[in-house]
Parts: sequence; C-alpha cells; structure tokens
Amino acid sequence: MRYLGIIEKYRQFLPVNSNTKIISLNEGNTPLIKADNIKDFLKVKFNIFLKYEGLNPTGSFKDRGMTMAITKAVEDGAKAVICASTGNTSASSAAYSARAGIKSVVLIPDGNIALGKLSQAMLYNAIVIAIKGNFDEALSLVKDISKRMSLVLVNSINPFRIEGQKTGAFEIVDDLGEAPDYHFMPVGNAGNITAYWKGYKEYREKGFSKKLPKMMGYEASGAAPIVLGKIVKNPETIATAIRIGNPASWDKAVKAKEESGGQIDCVTDEEILKAYKMLASLEGVFCEPASSSSLAGLIKYINSGKMIPDNSNVVCILTGNGLKDPNNAINNSPDIIKTEPNILDLETILVRKL
Ligand SMILES: *Cc1c(COP(=O)(O)O)cnc(C)c1O
Repeated sequence: MRYLGIIEKYRQFLPVNSNTKIISLNEGNTPLIKADNIKDFLKVKFNIFLKYEGLNPTGSFKDRGMTMAITKAVEDGAKAVICASTGNTSASSAAYSARAGIKSVVLIPDGNIALGKLSQAMLYNAIVIAIKGNFDEALSLVKDISKRMSLVLVNSINPFRIEGQKTGAFEIVDDLGEAPDYHFMPVGNAGNITAYWKGYKEYREKGFSKKLPKMMGYEASGAAPIVLGKIVKNPETIATAIRIGNPASWDKAVKAKEESGGQIDCVTDEEILKAYKMLASLEGVFCEPASSSSLAGLIKYINSGKMIPDNSNVVCILTGNGLKDPNNAINNSPDIIKTEPNILDLETILVRKL
C-alpha cells in the first residue's frame, strides 16, 4: 500500500470519517535512527534513538498536527486559517493551506525567526505579518482576532493539532515493538509533549504496548516558565522554536510529567549547541538548535548522576530540520578554508588537516 500520511495510517485513532476530505502531504513515517556513536561517546549502556521529525514535508513535526487541523478546518467550511508562530507552525500552516486552496495568515515575531522558515511561509504564499513583539504577544493577538473574524486558529490550542501530533508516539511504538523507557523532547508551547503523552496512553489502552515512557521535557534556560513556575516576560534563547515565556499547554505538560514519573527541566544555550554539533558530527543528523535540547537534556540528566538502566530504550525527538536555520550552523562551525586553485597548496592543507 502506498504511504498516504498519518491520517490514512492511523485513521481509527483520529476524528475523521469516510466522507472527510484529507489534506495531506504524506507527512509522518519519519525514521527512528539508532545513535550508537553518541552512545559510545557518552559511554552509556542504554540504547539511544533519534526520531528525526525534520524529515516531514515542511521540515518539522508541526506537519503531523497541521494535516489534521487543516483537514478539519476545510471540513467545517473554513476559507482562511491563522496562527502565531516562531516559524515552523507558519511554514506548515502555509503549506497545508496552499494544498487545501484556502488562505493562511501567519503572525511572526519580527527579526526572531530563522530564515528558512520565513522563506517557506512566503513562498507557500501565506499572508505574513511580522509584529514588533514576541511569540506570546502574537499568540494572544491571534486568539483575539480569530474570535472577531471568521478565521480558524491553528496553533496547538486547536485540539486537532494535538490529535495529529500524537501519531509520533504511535510510530515509535510501531518501530520498537513497545513504548520506549524514556522519551526526551524539547518543550516550547508544550503542545507536543501533551500530544506524545496522549498518544502513548491511547496506544497502550488499545493494546499496542504494555508500558509507558517517562516523559522528559526540556525548555531553554532563558525561556523556562514551567521550570521556574512563572511566566517569563522576555524569553531569550538561541533556540527560537522554543523561545516561549507563557506556554499554552502548560498544565498538560506538567500533567504528562507527573503521570509518567518524568521531569521538566531546562538546558542552557551552550548545552543546546553542544548537542546540536554532536548530532551532526557524530551521527550525520542535522536538526535545528531547539530540537537538540532533547539530547542536551539527556546529557544533563545522566551527568547529574541519574541512572538510566542498561539496555533501556531512550528516544530523543528531533523536532525540526537543521536546514531551516543555516545561520546557526555556519556561526557554530569552524571557518571554511580558502585557497588558490593550486594542487600544492591543496596538498599542504590536507596534510595538515587529515
Ligand atoms: C514548535 C517546535 C518546538 C516546540 O514544540 P511545542 O509543541 O511548542 O512544545 C520544538 N522544536 C521545534 C523545531 C518546533 O518547531
């Protein structure tokens, strides 16, 4: 059977019926990559898997939620949708809206969005509005305007987003044959941790797994409202996708942590960048900085002396593709070497480098 995206694959778990017209870009079905080089480097005896969500059609996990949200918006007769975004939601909303033939309005924080993401929303032909403010202010605006005008809100407070995103958990269980022992992931607005926890629980209820993972969520330390227990007015981090000071699904994230016996902690930009480089240089996996907070969190956890039993299965979600944010990749790498087109010069360089 040709793969047709997460709604076709997991129909029985999703709010669609045989008349629903599905708006899909064949999202999902992303690889679960075993990271043995990182395992050896960290000298640990448990298995590390990377769920590479950057391979979704617009380059982030947001597509799982967006196929569902746009499908339902169209089913309900919507002509336009709106979202606030640190970048990936806008790219995804713009793409699925284009596919559906409806309009997409995106509000982004001016100057704080990775170039790749901005270019996507623009070429997918969204109405892109940059506000002189941060994500939290943009979210508050779109909530209000969507009530005044007939615009469907497709941020993760839209319950259909969570429904679509929970399929990430189904895929992990399908791949491993059982739920993992630990599930590490970035936390921004906290929709995704909410979705994964829902997915793991539903899959177990239906008998597809016997256990549930500990949910380990990581905010950036300059944008860590859940860890601090209070709203952060001016969140700051290099990981722009999780630069959020007042998460919409705050309570649900805390609930996922508590019910699963996991934790929500934070990692510094330095720890994030270290993990970002490690993923690329040791495993050949290019994700965006926010994504690597899952691995950064795992490293912080084990370095703090916490034990993860041998042979456990640990999954790190890599939420978005590194290509979205080339500036951060270039700024955090050694300079490229320049030389004349001359074989002797080239040889001298290579003798030194290899
Ligand atoms: C949206 C996003 C996050 C944060 O997900 P939430 O559901 O807001 O917690 C993390 N990483 C990337 C790449 C994202 O696009």
